[in-house]
Amino acid sequence: MKKKIVVLGGSFGGLTAALEVKRLMGAKVDVTVISADKDFVFLPSLPWLILGSRRQADITLGVADILEPRGIAFIHETVQAVKPDELKVCTEKQEYPYDYLVISTGPHLSCEEIPGLSPDKGYTHCTFTMDYALKSREAWKKLLENPGPIVLGSTQLASCFGPYYELAFEMDYELRKRKMRHKVPITYLSSEPYLGHMGVGGLGMSRRFLEDEFARLDIKTITSQAIDEVAPDEIRLAGGGKVPFKLAMLAPPFKGVAGVASLGNPRGFIPADNYYRHPEHSNIYPIGVAMALAPPEPTPVPTGVPKTGFMTVRMAKAAAANIAADLENHALVSEKELSVVCLMDMGRTAALMVADPVLPPRQRSYIKKAVWAKWAKVLFEKYFLWKLRHGYSRLP
Ligand SMILES: Cc1cc2nc3c(=O)[nH]c(=O)nc-3n(C[C@H](O)[C@H](O)[C@H](O)COP(=O)(O)OP(=O)(O)OC[C@H]3O[C@@H](n4cnc5c(N)ncnc54)[C@H](O)[C@@H]3O)c2cc1C
Repeated sequence: MKKKIVVLGGSFGGLTAALEVKRLMGAKVDVTVISADKDFVFLPSLPWLILGSRRQADITLGVADILEPRGIAFIHETVQAVKPDELKVCTEKQEYPYDYLVISTGPHLSCEEIPGLSPDKGYTHCTFTMDYALKSREAWKKLLENPGPIVLGSTQLASCFGPYYELAFEMDYELRKRKMRHKVPITYLSSEPYLGHMGVGGLGMSRRFLEDEFARLDIKTITSQAIDEVAPDEIRLAGGGKVPFKLAMLAPPFKGVAGVASLGNPRGFIPADNYYRHPEHSNIYPIGVAMALAPPEPTPVPTGVPKTGFMTVRMAKAAAANIAADLENHALVSEKELSVVCLMDMGRTAALMVADPVLPPRQRSYIKKAVWAKWAKVLFEKYFLWKLRHGYSRLP
């Protein structure tokens, strides 16, 4: 009987893992992807969509269009529970048996932890989904018509910081082009203990680099802050201060998604060993944002470790290779020492950030600003979408 590989999530991790297992094992396996979204969105380009240089169609691919021509089944449903003892996944419609399960369900954006924080029921925006980015774009257009203070950054327990640095640089650049910057104070407000910490203790000279850049651009900084609540026009800090805004975009606290959280730690992130296997259920492979990764150091206000797309794709390839190795009775490969390469847009230029490994102490770590980095970021978007559209998961 063919082994059943079920993959949860149709994004960076899920699609890469599914394509790789199928590439490695071919007709010996049945691969099924279950995802709550029928589209893949190239999330790193959402800040560009918010500011108007991308349309939804430019950065979206249909998951079925990627998978089905390669013999991988796609089920557009939401996972409600995993039953590891019965080797089953339950969605709102039915149960699916598995021999191996890959979990790449990303984060639950836990806005409910902070009153008033939410693009749906509150007063803040964020960049983490296409819907939220489209709402943010409308809010940005309104701000241009009726200028006022912008606040960008992250709440306690957020674990993705890069996009809000990018938005600070990009909004500053757009406002200067429109000769409006003097009407829009920009504040970067963060749970990070210092600028450039990014949940990983900084990369290279990121602290000094970002302090200098923000000082040069007159972007005010408030770090090491937790948020108590958000009112329609001000953010109330746990320390007692208030930050007024007309547009606030904040990364919410992250949690694991409800359907898989029972396999994880108290915040629902799922532990994995050096082979990306769940410590108690060795046929379950948590990867990407869904996987638990302990912070390198405690911070006064809790922050999470970002699991970038770059890291997630590496994890997905390692998990797929290990499933194939296990099926063929070969030795598994440990790939837990991940590095990270990121391109941060800065308006006219961009910065290349490298950390190897992700968590300190490191062999290599630097940040470098250049115009070519901006072009590299644009080219990478085109390359990644081309690669995924054609199912070339083998490529870097
Ligand atoms: C604005 C922005 C900019 C970024 N920039 C960069 C960058 O420049 N470089 C970089 O390397 N990384 C970047 N990242 C990070 C990168 O996008 C993430 O690391 C990556 O998306 C993680 O992939 P994932 O598969 O773990 O989860 P996600 O991309 O979050 O996908 C989760 C998937 O699971 C599905 N799902 C969720 N719950 C369920 C459920 N219950 N049942 C079934 N399916 C479910 C979702 O529909 C989705 O398909 C950025 C992220 C954002 C938001």
